Amino acid sequence: MRTANGGQRVGSRLFLRYALASLVPVLALGLTLVRSDQQAGLERGLGQGRAQAAVIEQMAISPALGGHDLAGGLDAGERDRLRQATDLAIFSGSVSRLRLRSFAGQVVFSDDGLMTSPLASTSTAFRTAAAGRADVTVMDDDDSAASVIRVLQPVVPSASGRAVGVLEVYLPYAPIAATVERQLQHTYRQLAGGLGLLYLVLGVISWSTTRRLRRHAAEREHQAMHDALTALPNREWFRLQAEAAADSGERGAVVLVDLDRFKEVNDTLGHPAGDRLLQIVAERLRRSLRPHDTVARLGGDEFGLVLRDLCTEEQAVELLSRVREAVSADITLDGVAVSVEASFGIAVYPDHGRDIDDLLQHADVAMYQGKRGTAGVVVYRPGPRTHTTQWLVVQSELRRALERDELVLHYQPILDLATGRVTALEALLRWDHPQRGRLAPDAFLPAAEQSGLIEPLTAWVLDRALADRAAWTALGAPWPVAVNISARNLESADLARDVLRRLAASSTAAGDLLLEVTETAIATDTDVAVAALNGLAAAGTRVVIDDFGAGYSSLSHLRGLAVDEIKIDRAFVLGLTRNPQDRAIVRAVLELAHGLGCTATAEGVEDAETADWLRAAGCDHAQGYHFSRPVPWPELITRFAMPPAVPPQLGSSCGARPDVPGSTTAPPPQKVP
Ligand code: C2E
Ligand code: CA
Ligand code: CA
Repeated sequence: MRTANGGQRVGSRLFLRYALASLVPVLALGLTLVRSDQQAGLERGLGQGRAQAAVIEQMAISPALGGHDLAGGLDAGERDRLRQATDLAIFSGSVSRLRLRSFAGQVVFSDDGLMTSPLASTSTAFRTAAAGRADVTVMDDDDSAASVIRVLQPVVPSASGRAVGVLEVYLPYAPIAATVERQLQHTYRQLAGGLGLLYLVLGVISWSTTRRLRRHAAEREHQAMHDALTALPNREWFRLQAEAAADSGERGAVVLVDLDRFKEVNDTLGHPAGDRLLQIVAERLRRSLRPHDTVARLGGDEFGLVLRDLCTEEQAVELLSRVREAVSADITLDGVAVSVEASFGIAVYPDHGRDIDDLLQHADVAMYQGKRGTAGVVVYRPGPRTHTTQWLVVQSELRRALERDELVLHYQPILDLATGRVTALEALLRWDHPQRGRLAPDAFLPAAEQSGLIEPLTAWVLDRALADRAAWTALGAPWPVAVNISARNLESADLARDVLRRLAASSTAAGDLLLEVTETAIATDTDVAVAALNGLAAAGTRVVIDDFGAGYSSLSHLRGLAVDEIKIDRAFVLGLTRNPQDRAIVRAVLELAHGLGCTATAEGVEDAETADWLRAAGCDHAQGYHFSRPVPWPELITRFAMPPAVPPQLGSSCGARPDVPGSTTAPPPQKVP
């Protein structure tokens, strides 16, 4: 496990570094303290010497003197008393040498009888003592080569109470040094103990801090890699695991799992129930897989699995069939028993690829195959891409396109032939595919219609178109918007409710939305479709029959349908000026439309001649490259929203570039028998 052990190692290293770093100031502190303590020790030694000399002066020297200035020398009595008083000290070794000197420096008494001194009377030390202040220093004794303390001390005999000369006394330093050393040792021990304790406390603090930091970092990493609802690893973690597994050189499987009809649970029982369901499914997945398999929540109702070390595809299918069974046991939510079905798509590595994106794509294709068929666990089948697998790829890519916002809407204006004013803009879908470039709707709509994808797709188009309409209205061009509705959308009983909800959400009046439905769409599932369309029409939305005349469908479908407008299929309009049959058909459709109380729109108007003919024939509206190709709506604002309105035949937008490669040519005209 990358996090736990890795984090621990990093934490230990961090702690070690901290421990070493804090050792440096502690040692420096210790060194400074030792230094200053040594200095203090020396001063203590000197102080002791000074005290000892003062005692000698007071107890032995002063009482022996008569009280006169020493410049005059000593009398015999004084000399005897001095000798008696100092002999013992000299003898016991507590004093090395002792001289009594006058202020002028003359030696008047010395323990060894020599009446000279190596210390000049002019030296600072002597002058200090002569001035009444003791001078203490440590030095090497010339005779014994041992260290001595030299003290120069004014002599104040009790008889006179004033200074009469200078006492020059040399004390052996060794015993004083030993005492000082003993005291120092004691201090060192205390210091070492104290510093050790300080270091220990610092260590404990740093250890607990790094531990807390480590735990915090681990928590953060866990959150970044896990899904809050199910506590499962998330998509990022899944990718890492799947990548590592696919690179391992062993055989295994990357599996995508998608719950069927999860949306229904969410819609009918509410989001808390949906969340609960996801938690239960997550738990079931986790429990029914092997300990070394990975299960992650990729988002929504989609889960991802990495099955390591599998020998065969069959093994994967067998394992996942068991998992699927465990997942689909009934779940009681708010007292309602819900059965969840799940589709499993398997891509085996290295057989179906090593690249994680390829594997995921293949697993996705397999999963969609499962959703469309009856098998719940499907292994990806490589091989030449058949029409179906091509579609499956498109479907899986399209689902991502919706998430990644790769879809765009272009708009083509519909104009009033009499006034030249824009009556509406038709939203036409394009897909900016990351690899294949801009795709026209024919390249992907059929695949979307074959899967459940058309619903989110239409929802996206509706929302975007309504938002765009609000934007151009805000710029002073209150044009209605026309949106194409697929035949599959009409099969849903929710369509009317859904459209009305979106209208309300975008604060759009129902009359500003036109829904274009192909003639064939109404023919397929009449009852539900008619109910949906009439529901929308009743709410004020305008219904347009698109591609009219191309579907060979019976006119009876138009009965009982609240239609506002009929769009003549461009197959009849394109060759109209050359083909008398087309003209006859268009005339008939115009008559029919007006007879039903609808307006008629001709689409595919590519030149002024066609526009003129249509106007003369009584056609109400027209749409086509002659006026404008489908373009992003802001272009239409500059071209069509500027008053006064330009008569359509003068509009010179024919040179505009096609927005979709290959959409310039019309399909071959279809003949009505
Ligand atoms: P449609 O609804 O009949 O849209 C008109 C099509 O005719 C557009 O093709 C447009 O570019 C093309 N066209 C417009 N004027 C001319 C012209 O003067 N000459 C020729 N040759 N063609 C012209 P496009 O954009 O490729 O759309 C194709 C079809 O895809 C649309 O046919 C519509 O059925 C469908 N579609 C487009 N967007 C959507 C959508 O958002 N939802 C659904 N369900 N279908 C859509
Ligand atoms: Ca249309
Ligand atoms: Ca059409």
